[in-house]
Amino acid sequence: MEYEAHQKALASYLESHNLKRTKQREEILRAFVDAGGHLTGEDLYQFIRKRAPRIGYTTVYRTLKLFVEAGLAEEHHFDDGVTRYEIEHKHHDHLLCIFCGKILEFESSEIEEAQKIVAEELGFTLLRHRHELYGRCADCSASKQS
Ligand SMILES: [Zn+2]
Ligand SMILES: [Zn+2]
Repeated sequence: MEYEAHQKALASYLESHNLKRTKQREEILRAFVDAGGHLTGEDLYQFIRKRAPRIGYTTVYRTLKLFVEAGLAEEHHFDDGVTRYEIEHKHHDHLLCIFCGKILEFESSEIEEAQKIVAEELGFTLLRHRHELYGRCADCSASKQS
């Protein structure tokens, strides 16, 4: 199960950095995995509040930063200037609707392959990349026409 793998990774990170393995940190991780998607600190806080009202916003926010340092989460800064977090999973890129804020994921082996070729031709060693495509999603296009 996905959560167990993340939980193990968190435990070993905390241990190697002499940090405590607290119940709160595990609860926040669990909620983060369950909520899924691309969340702001506020989104995750609202999600957690329903199941663990004792956990404050600051704790959620700090724990998300910790997850990023531990390699469990990725921090995104899309064009709207809001910081979002997502649990680390298979490589993918994003499509962002500038009308409703929806974020879609995609993975294209053609694009991945094409950028390797481009980099190679320029003698460039590719370490990572990020594609963010901005536009109007199918739902917003449909509602605009009706
Ligand atoms: Zn939209
Ligand atoms: Zn994503």
